[in-house]
Amino acid sequence: MAASISFGNWQQALDEIIESWENRKSKLFNTFQNLQDNESRLKFIFKNNLIRNIDWLQNYFETCDSWHGKSKVEAAFWKTKGNKYFQQRKFALAVDAYSQSCINAPSAEGDDLSLSLGNRSAALFHLKHYESCVIDIDRAISLSFPACSRQKLLARKTLALIKLGQRDEASKNLQTLKDFVESSNFSLKDQKRDEFLKEMASMELSVQALLEEPRCKKSINDFNPKPPKVFHGANQVVPQASQCLSLSYSTKKGRHLSANKSIPRGSTLIVEKPFAAVLLPDHYETHCHHCFLPLPLTYLGCKRCTMVRFCNEVCRDSAWSGFHSTECRYLDLLHSVGIAHLSLRVVLSAGLPFLLDFLDNQSKYRLSQDPSYLGLNSRGQYDHEYLTVFDLMTHEDSTERSDMLQYSLTAGLLLLTLAHSGLFSMLDGASNTAGKSAFDISSMILGTKAAPKDGVNLPPYMVKIGGLLLRHILQLVCNAHAITSIQTEPTSETARDAAVETNVSSTEQTRVATAIYPTASLMNHACDPTIVSSFIDKTLVVRTLKDVAEGDEIYNCYGPHYCRMDKEERQAILQSQYRFSCDCLACRGGDLDQRRFGAYRCPRCAGVLYTETCLECGFTADRATITHLKARAVECKKLFDNALSLMNALQFEAALAAFEKCRDQRREFLYKDHRDLALVEDAIARCYASQGDFCSAADHLYASVEFARSLYGPLSQEYGHELQKLAEVLFNAGRLRECVDVCEGCLRVLRDLYHPEHQVLREVKELLAEAENALLPQMSAG
Ligand SMILES: [Zn+2]
Ligand SMILES: [Zn+2]
Ligand SMILES: [Zn+2]
Ligand SMILES: [Zn+2]
Repeated sequence: MAASISFGNWQQALDEIIESWENRKSKLFNTFQNLQDNESRLKFIFKNNLIRNIDWLQNYFETCDSWHGKSKVEAAFWKTKGNKYFQQRKFALAVDAYSQSCINAPSAEGDDLSLSLGNRSAALFHLKHYESCVIDIDRAISLSFPACSRQKLLARKTLALIKLGQRDEASKNLQTLKDFVESSNFSLKDQKRDEFLKEMASMELSVQALLEEPRCKKSINDFNPKPPKVFHGANQVVPQASQCLSLSYSTKKGRHLSANKSIPRGSTLIVEKPFAAVLLPDHYETHCHHCFLPLPLTYLGCKRCTMVRFCNEVCRDSAWSGFHSTECRYLDLLHSVGIAHLSLRVVLSAGLPFLLDFLDNQSKYRLSQDPSYLGLNSRGQYDHEYLTVFDLMTHEDSTERSDMLQYSLTAGLLLLTLAHSGLFSMLDGASNTAGKSAFDISSMILGTKAAPKDGVNLPPYMVKIGGLLLRHILQLVCNAHAITSIQTEPTSETARDAAVETNVSSTEQTRVATAIYPTASLMNHACDPTIVSSFIDKTLVVRTLKDVAEGDEIYNCYGPHYCRMDKEERQAILQSQYRFSCDCLACRGGDLDQRRFGAYRCPRCAGVLYTETCLECGFTADRATITHLKARAVECKKLFDNALSLMNALQFEAALAAFEKCRDQRREFLYKDHRDLALVEDAIARCYASQGDFCSAADHLYASVEFARSLYGPLSQEYGHELQKLAEVLFNAGRLRECVDVCEGCLRVLRDLYHPEHQVLREVKELLAEAENALLPQMSAG
């Protein structure tokens, strides 16, 4: 592990270039602005040595090979730490330490990895994670765990299989253990030998007992939900969508989807795998770099670097062959380009030879050049293939020139990275001319090799790929889709060790990755959308939020939702990012119903004082009053933030007092339905729950549940999630009958919005079953 990594900041480098060009009113800037296509823009970047002038880049590319590498020392450090925790019987901490040791252990040399895996399996056994224990033992043995102590692993595996009730496997493994004991590798002597043989005999008895029991149905396989089917079968033209949708085109709307028959709420309209997707760096330590699922305890590292983690060998190897072998050395740099990383991933997913062929022979791949046939392949289908990505909107014409310059420089950097990585050699036969000359060019760009006086000329294949990288960056600005996962707050280490349940569970949607879904991109925006998205790992599932009439267009919400923002704010966001002014029903209607959620309290009648006029009694506030109200809002926000930091510092009593003060003040000047009042009730509930007072927590949660119902509607996802939270707190408070009612209400709302095996639905169903179970003895006693 490199102690300190210093390299410049890409965004800062971009800002400096733009600033200097704007200051100098550079002629070059005008030349750049007049360029007509992406390939010319890329050529321009290198012709003018723009990237060469960024001084830290050369150093970065020269040293990136040595960053985040494996380290025997680091691996040994973590293993020792793990052993210490193990002796103290802090097994969860031991698992984490052994995992760190595995991540750092060089995979090619020595026994470090297999020994750490062996140790992790022991800690997992103590935590009763028997399946995980077996996984690690199999890995340790396949990595040639030292023969002299292999009996320990084989014995542990037999015990774990017995615990799992896997009678055939247990008996098979016991035989392997017996064979080992007979072999010359078995090295225990005297008393130790006797003890071990005794242990083995008792295992044999357990296996016997197991063999006489009726066969256990439980298999080792993990829960593995299948993606749902689309409503009424797959569409002929758009195979990822339902037959009940039609793909249409008009100059005003572009391509869009609409219903060709009436569709009820809760129907699955689209089930789509992303064309490409990248995990966000914040989740590298908690989610698989390949499938984006939360990491299991038995996660593995990359074979080369220490930065990314995988569920298992399958995820690790698919990521390596798909993209990570190219990206592994450059991850720091790729993080600094933000969403543009996904552009590189699109190119890697499609593959260089394919892309060059595609550009040269487009007519072979598409039905027609007509704009109404965009994305349709030669069979007339809008399918899961590169053409649909290529044809997404770029908004080139309306992109500001300084943005265009930034995107072009970033595309140039990505192209440089590809050239440096040696990827272009895949275009070669035996000669390796393309690979070599691309690498030479990367040296010229960086200035480690002399470049021609009139700038670097790129070979045609590099220009083409660079143009595509820029094209995809331009598309991502409007077409990138977040992959969210419902995250339950992680249980702290100590709590896990003491087997204590955490008391505050705050479930929220977290953005874990960014992806490109060409079929979902066909939906236009409305501030009051038709659909709701959820995910089965990377697969997007789109369901209807409401009944849809024949002929209605299907709308997605690109972010600005009418319940969360007022019209002006939404319009501004849609204009700056997506370049259109929204004309949806909510925008046309002016959101009259929504005003009360952001209104002051009328000093005369306690009604809705919106901007300066009361919607109920007509009272108009003067300027001084409005200024005063605004100042009070700012003051209360400070109070709220302060209370929040007290809560985060676990000072719950002080936090509670501060939140209550904030609520009382807000009640004085905010309308009773104001969203800030609901927020503070929610925070108060969390404070109570953190202190173990679930009864009070529940009482306060009822207020925020009611708020979610009136703001988002009685059938909304938000209301459903609030109900789930309330149900959990009621369960903990022992208010089981209420819990059952709330669970049932929650399921009525959410079962239409999520596919049946969605994590949230499973959790609520489990809670309901538990609550009903707990009620049984009470009922029979009563
Ligand atoms: Zn995975
Ligand atoms: Zn790696
Ligand atoms: Zn709108
Ligand atoms: Zn009034």
